[in-house]
Amino acid sequence: MSRFVPFALALAVLIWPFALGAAEVRVGVLAYRGAERAAFEWQPTIRHLDRALPDHRFHAVPLDIPSLSKAVEDGRVDFVITNPGHYVELEAGHRATRLATFETVGGPKPSAAIGSAVLVRADRGDLDGLAALAGKRIAGVLPEAFGGFRLAWREMAARGLDPFRDSRLVFLGFPIEGIVEAVAKGEVDAGIVRACLLERMAEEGRVRIEEFRVLDPQPSGALGCRASTRLYPDWPFAKHAATPDGLAKRVGIALLSMPPTDGHAWTVPVDYQPVHDLFRELKIGPYEHLARRTFVEVLRDSWPWLVAAAAAVAWWLAHVVRVEHLVRRRTDELKAAHAAARRQRDEMEHGARLALLGEMASSIAHEINQPLAAIANYASGCQRRLSAGADPEGVAEGLRSIAGQAERAAGIVQRIRDFVRKRKPEPAAIDLNAVVRESLDLFRAVATRRGVAVEANLAEALPPVLADRIQVEQVLLNLLQNAVDAMAAAERRHLAVTTAATANRMVEVAVADTGPGLSPEARSRLFEPFFTTRPDGLGLGLSLSRSIAEAHGGRLRADDSPGGGARFAFTLPIVEERP
Ligand code: ADP
Repeated sequence: MSRFVPFALALAVLIWPFALGAAEVRVGVLAYRGAERAAFEWQPTIRHLDRALPDHRFHAVPLDIPSLSKAVEDGRVDFVITNPGHYVELEAGHRATRLATFETVGGPKPSAAIGSAVLVRADRGDLDGLAALAGKRIAGVLPEAFGGFRLAWREMAARGLDPFRDSRLVFLGFPIEGIVEAVAKGEVDAGIVRACLLERMAEEGRVRIEEFRVLDPQPSGALGCRASTRLYPDWPFAKHAATPDGLAKRVGIALLSMPPTDGHAWTVPVDYQPVHDLFRELKIGPYEHLARRTFVEVLRDSWPWLVAAAAAVAWWLAHVVRVEHLVRRRTDELKAAHAAARRQRDEMEHGARLALLGEMASSIAHEINQPLAAIANYASGCQRRLSAGADPEGVAEGLRSIAGQAERAAGIVQRIRDFVRKRKPEPAAIDLNAVVRESLDLFRAVATRRGVAVEANLAEALPPVLADRIQVEQVLLNLLQNAVDAMAAAERRHLAVTTAATANRMVEVAVADTGPGLSPEARSRLFEPFFTTRPDGLGLGLSLSRSIAEAHGGRLRADDSPGGGARFAFTLPIVEERP
């Protein structure tokens, strides 16, 4: 520090007159091997420009590729010294223009000064050319390095080898000599380096040149060393788009008139078209868009797949529609079958009711006959009273009785009509005791004629059940008729009808008789349709009764009656009160 201060002061005094009022000019230089080395390398050029344009102060600004691109984009540099690949990108992206091309005096032509060598070990006889690198480990500097990768990439691509896809790439970065070492040690099969590096290292005694082989050596002319690639122009000195033409002109003249320093000079700008060709072929940099395929290209290349995919989707859609259609048709069929079965059952139920009524017919006729006979009696009584003189009270009494009996007969007829009417079940809240009473009214005549004593034990305050009244009546009359039939030959003929609420929120109606009870065969087949032991029986009563009970959510079962005989009981659910 202490030594540096007087030195800095002296320098400041020296350059003060020049620096005062001198315009700052920034020259961005690509520092691919570190900032210091880049600043040092371009020092003769910067110094020359300072001398040639004393009213300007030139600074070298060493940057790597991304930072240099950003500096150009932001207008933070006035001029750029960079490799040909990067220059072409700046030219396309930021309208940079070259003023001069670097030249090695006595060396290769500035238009063919840069190439790459792909090295393998001399003992690798299997690697006889770039095409043999498929599947091999290849070392490069960086994916975006010009001499350290892209030049070789172009040559491999020209031989149908995509190094990214077909080989195993490793990028070792700087220093580039590391790649030569990796090849020598056999860590990689091949290495991509700038042409002439190997020769320089051999001169310096760092490697033995015969230990290496350069793949596919090209005629390299004045380059004087072996290269695996075509040769490209040397580095350009370019101006930023915004740098004034006057300054650019003066800088250009200064560069062209720079005396060679260490054998280096600047010459007229050469043609960078070969670099453009490389970028275009590899579809990178300014030509990256070429790698993006248009919709039409995708369509053209993959139409068989697209057609196949479209066909698959169409097939799938058709399949879905067909399955849906089949399901709908099947559902409709099932609904129709269900409706037909329902209709058939209704018909059967109706037929069974008619049959039941047929069996009860003569008893019912007798039942109706009784009020009719009573009416006839009362009528003749009234007649007598009228002819015997005035007894209006007696006649009125007789007429009231007639009306009562007529009502009784009409009631029976109405019940019969209800019972045989064709109808759909209409579940409603009904009082089972009332249904039992009405059924017994209709049935009493049958019982009386067959000498059967009927006893009704109806529970008080029975909760209502949800059921169709006529269907319940049908079940009940069927059980009553069966009981009476079963007791035809019995000595004691007693029939008991009982109603009771059960624990599981049901109401049970039981019909117990004193008949012979159920034979083992009858017990197992009772509820089968068409099972009957009666000569004129249909065998449908119990099977229909059970299906009616079950359709209401109830049960019908047969047991032995405690007093001998059979006991049939069916249950129906209590109407649930809505909360
Ligand atoms: P059907 O009365 O036309 O024979 P059911 O289905 O009503 O048809 O009865 C079927 C059979 O069940 C009867 O034939 C009879 O053998 C038997 N059965 C029904 N009820 C009783 C009963 N209370 N006691 C004894 N057997 C009975």
